[in-house]
Amino acid sequence: MSNLEQTLSIVKPDAVERNLTEDIKKIFINNDLKIVNSKKIHISKEEAADFYKVHQAKPFYDELCTYLSSGPIFVMILEGEGAIALNRKLMGATNPKDAEPNTIRKLYGISIDKNSVHGSDSAENAKIEIDLFFKN
Ligand code: UDP
Ligand code: MG
Repeated sequence: MSNLEQTLSIVKPDAVERNLTEDIKKIFINNDLKIVNSKKIHISKEEAADFYKVHQAKPFYDELCTYLSSGPIFVMILEGEGAIALNRKLMGATNPKDAEPNTIRKLYGISIDKNSVHGSDSAENAKIEIDLFFKN
């Protein structure tokens, strides 16, 4: 049975700034994820607040929104078998210190907030996040 999925990936400002976008794209491509759409954008704090609204009650919410809107980001739709879980596996744990060897966050993450990438965590959120960046 096939389980073809799409998920949203974001290269966050810390990684775009260090010119890591191409290296991160290669990790996805080399692991059977296809980049079916992508763009480099710079979002406002209001747009970041909308994107991260599931975290609005968290103590780090305001800083998180300031950070995601602090510079250009590279957003991608990844497609492949089990793409949602595969992307999360390739990303590694939220805190780079806890991430497995060779994951994106272990290789490139600076700290728990500057952790280089975002990835949708469920089919439901993948759809919401893809629509947010790529509808119209
Ligand atoms: N974050 C943070 N401090 C924390 C936990 C999370 O700054 O204590 C940031 C971090 O950049 C993370 C984002 O908030 O990527 C969203 O948190 P989540 O728990 O959803 O982690 P993720 O799904 O990105 O691994
Ligand atoms: Mg998350």
